[in-house]
Amino acid sequence: MSAPLIEIIGLSKAFPLRGGLFGGIRGDVKAVSDVSFSLAKGDVFGLAGESGSGKSTIARMIMGLTHPSAGAILLDGLDLTGLPLALARSKAVQMVFQNPGSSLNPRRSIGQSIAVPLEARKIARADVERGVARLLDMVQLPADFSTRYPHELSGGQKQRIAIARALAVEPQLIILDEPTSALDVSVQAKIIELLNELRRSLGLTYIFISHDLSLMRNFASRVGVLYLGRLVEEGPTRKLFEAPAHPYTRSLLAAVPVISAEEEAIKPKAPIVEGEIPSPMNQPPGCAFHTRCPLAFGLCDQQNPEAYWLDGDHFARCHLLAPDAASLGAKPIETLKRENAG
Ligand code: SF4
Repeated sequence: MSAPLIEIIGLSKAFPLRGGLFGGIRGDVKAVSDVSFSLAKGDVFGLAGESGSGKSTIARMIMGLTHPSAGAILLDGLDLTGLPLALARSKAVQMVFQNPGSSLNPRRSIGQSIAVPLEARKIARADVERGVARLLDMVQLPADFSTRYPHELSGGQKQRIAIARALAVEPQLIILDEPTSALDVSVQAKIIELLNELRRSLGLTYIFISHDLSLMRNFASRVGVLYLGRLVEEGPTRKLFEAPAHPYTRSLLAAVPVISAEEEAIKPKAPIVEGEIPSPMNQPPGCAFHTRCPLAFGLCDQQNPEAYWLDGDHFARCHLLAPDAASLGAKPIETLKRENAG
């Protein structure tokens, strides 16, 4: 892998938990615990997890909207955690949100909305109009869209405008927070296609946040799976899809719809996980997934599993991957995989 553009090192966030008679602090809520990953320029990192898994808190820390409790965020070697918050890094990191309508002022024309970040860059007034037309062209919309208003646009068109606004500051990294989950499936595919084209032509780097692993298959180069604020598995997309090691990843992939016999053949036959993710305020002891894990055994509610490397670039946190798993009272992972596939 070439030198990373962004390195997330041991990132954690705990929010104080207030309560009691005098509203004092009576503990903390661990929203993100010791998350590390890195990403080379031009790559896409997929961050997958259910709502409440800590995805958005990680995004907010990278954007500078939330201060980490511990850890570092390096962009091109520069530690962003030492910089003043959002404003200082907004030129380098931009975010595209799930609901594009909420970031567009209904009383501003599209041209005026796209002009705001250009004007903030002190671009000469005469060049702003040209800049708006160029950005509309980049997101494959005609120049006359600049005179339209948000209520005249479809969801997919509004998302293209949100992408144009993010591109206006020429960022190094764009965080895509569920950018297609409010859109129809056919529109989702077109937005992903556009993002891919922009990545190739502009050399952009993305962190793609989604609860939907299937969207990452052909888009992300690496995928990290979050559960209650911890990365439980991380690795190259192909390895994670073809040989998922964590029971949670396996059950998420078992639920993903497939379109070809080839994909069906490699899809894990793991049981689908039932129930809701526990609240971060009531994190289960030991492995946080043990309350829903179909493979949990004696050790799981007592000890947090460490990260086991399956090879140099793919790890998972599960006691079943320990070399001495059988002596701990668990069945070795290979046996379990065979039983699940059976
Ligand atoms: Fe399941 Fe135990 Fe592995 Fe956690 S450590 S994922 S509970 S088998």
